[in-house]
Amino acid sequence: MPEWLNALPKAELHLHLEGSLEPELLFALAERNQIALPWADVETLRAAYAFNNLQEFLDLYYAGANVLRTEQDFYDLTWAYLQRCKAQNVIHVEPFFDPQTHTDRGIPFEVVLRGIQQALLDGEKQLGISHGLILSFLRHLPEEEAFKTLEQAMPFRDAFIGVGLDSSEKGFPPRLFERVFAKARSEGLHAVAHAGEEGPPEYIWEALDLLKIKRIDHGVRAIEDERLMQRIIDEQIPLTVCPLSNIKLCVFEHMGQHNILEMLERGVKVTVNSDDPAYFGGYVGENFAALHEHLGMTEAQAKRLAQNSLDARLA
Ligand SMILES: [Zn+2]
Repeated sequence: MPEWLNALPKAELHLHLEGSLEPELLFALAERNQIALPWADVETLRAAYAFNNLQEFLDLYYAGANVLRTEQDFYDLTWAYLQRCKAQNVIHVEPFFDPQTHTDRGIPFEVVLRGIQQALLDGEKQLGISHGLILSFLRHLPEEEAFKTLEQAMPFRDAFIGVGLDSSEKGFPPRLFERVFAKARSEGLHAVAHAGEEGPPEYIWEALDLLKIKRIDHGVRAIEDERLMQRIIDEQIPLTVCPLSNIKLCVFEHMGQHNILEMLERGVKVTVNSDDPAYFGGYVGENFAALHEHLGMTEAQAKRLAQNSLDARLA
């Protein structure tokens, strides 16, 4: 990565902590917790990182998350991510975590949260990285389950800045979660949601109008709807775009086809993020480098993208 790209101060606004679990740490945690893995070694696991769509990735992602058991595991996961941020001059993070991925397999909410929170606080003190944590609901589960998760989270209300919506998009439109998002907003939480990654532009409209989100996660399919494009430009609604993720999950065939710079030039407030960096081939820095290499992103464009990420912070 060119040094000037690395040196740009950046924020990361679309990162799933569970998706930053590198194979080496995954194997180390499996050993520590005495969990048998379906992969022989790190190389075999890495070789399995070839996906045809979002669902194939999610199946592996949930299998990997199974090694996370103790507060220390969640601390180590978060700390490893923050060290990557430090090396790439990411000065602010607003990561997601999926409580249901863990509570559904018997890990108490508090164990997950305390590990993550302690690492974020240490990151602020020792690495100078500020943060705002976002609790994300799994959209392939019923809204009722999201309500239960929100209830579990409320004793720790001060640990979060907002709620999000992730996991399988197609067939699980934002409107299914209108009530739980209204409840979260009434508690003073910000709302964001994944929309328009694999799902159609209608899902982005629903996320804006029904969930009243402040930021769109992905949103690359907005470009198919001119009226929607005009709205997100007029209202300067940020998009947290994840270029390497989009290629890995076949949203675009090649990086050369990605629309992020076209959106930037049209005035959309796009930002660069890594989504699930351990699975998709890189962190924020590698995503910027890919845009430079394949789309000819200029230094001026990189500076605008980095500034957008700082402007789009919710914390
Ligand atoms: Zn995501």
